[in-house]
Amino acid sequence: MSTLISDAMKQQAALLSTLRKANIYTYSLEVSSACRNRIIVGGKEHVNFISNNYLGFSTHPKVLEAVRAAMDTYGLGIGGSPLACGTTEIHYRLQEKIARVYEKEACVICASGYQALVAGIQATIGKGDVAIMDSLVHRSIVDGVTLSGADRRMWLHNDTEDLADLLARVKKKYGRMLILVDSVYSMDGDWADLAALGKLKDEHGALLLIDEAHSLGVLGKRGYGLPDQFGLPDAADVVAGTFSKFAGAVGGFVAGPADFIDHLRHNASAYIFSASLPPMTAAGVYRAFGLLEEEPEWRAKLWDNINYFLAGLKERGFDTGPSRTAVVPLLIRDVEKTMTFNKMIFDEGVYASPIVHPAVAPAESRIRLGVMATHTKEDLDFSMDVFVKVGKKLGIVR
Ligand code: PMP
Repeated sequence: MSTLISDAMKQQAALLSTLRKANIYTYSLEVSSACRNRIIVGGKEHVNFISNNYLGFSTHPKVLEAVRAAMDTYGLGIGGSPLACGTTEIHYRLQEKIARVYEKEACVICASGYQALVAGIQATIGKGDVAIMDSLVHRSIVDGVTLSGADRRMWLHNDTEDLADLLARVKKKYGRMLILVDSVYSMDGDWADLAALGKLKDEHGALLLIDEAHSLGVLGKRGYGLPDQFGLPDAADVVAGTFSKFAGAVGGFVAGPADFIDHLRHNASAYIFSASLPPMTAAGVYRAFGLLEEEPEWRAKLWDNINYFLAGLKERGFDTGPSRTAVVPLLIRDVEKTMTFNKMIFDEGVYASPIVHPAVAPAESRIRLGVMATHTKEDLDFSMDVFVKVGKKLGIVR
């Protein structure tokens, strides 16, 4: 081993080596097709449950047409940060569109969702303030809080009584209190109670930032996420999100009051010191927003698939936790069995993610399945048959 690997790192390396030797390591396999309902991995076609391309927009012909046109005009990228030459007319149109979608005054675009979350938090809190995080928020929120310099407190997942107690306890100790939630939780597929959060933040004089990553395009009458689902556009002060799920692309955004967004643009280091999203990606994402309005049938198909799949898995004896969205966990609750299950279903033609420590506690080990609008009933039935076959062999279902 190289001198770059410390003794502490060796333990992790040994674990990885064990998984590889047992031939149950399935991370970062070589993909050689687009991200559709079926995907070619290791030279063989698999049903695709590993992506967050929920609506299938990453290969939609209208999206690709918009990308090609922008590529012809702007090339591969714009070669600068948003404050320099990186804000094209396409970025401006997309920012205006997102601000309208979330009924906010303004919006900025970042090159990733991770960056957007970090910048959004940096712009909101700092030393002397406190981040009040749901215990299952995404890592980009945790890292954003670290970079902000604010103190942090956690409340029990989706337990608004616990949150109310915490707010009452810390209220007098800090300048600002920022409540942070994922709209839809990335490993469990349940969602935050925006109505209760909105009430609590008002009662305690706190602020609320929501991460719309797995909610935009999925929840709400128009697919405009959690605020649309609850009919509460004003409940969250700041809305951040990503283009890597609903558009199957890359990039992120922060939306809020105009003066706050202006402050972010000039103060959040995560935003200032990094290059802009390529215009061709911004153009494709803009087109994907248009599709939410023009072709609502994709969302309808997605929900049809979610309901069919969740019901089918439960009927077959699988534990899907609290999921009620396109993020569907198959709880296996054992690290080795989870890795083995994933390799066995892969060999049978289904590609998914094994989620183990440190992403979740060992007893929460699971397979994470991302449902797509473009999955056919045949894809779902075939996969459920594979899960039962493998599940029986490993004693996960009877
Ligand atoms: N928030 C959540 C809840 C996510 O699941 C992710 C991506 N896994 C992100 C933020 C970061 O988004 P991106 O991948 O676009 O950087």
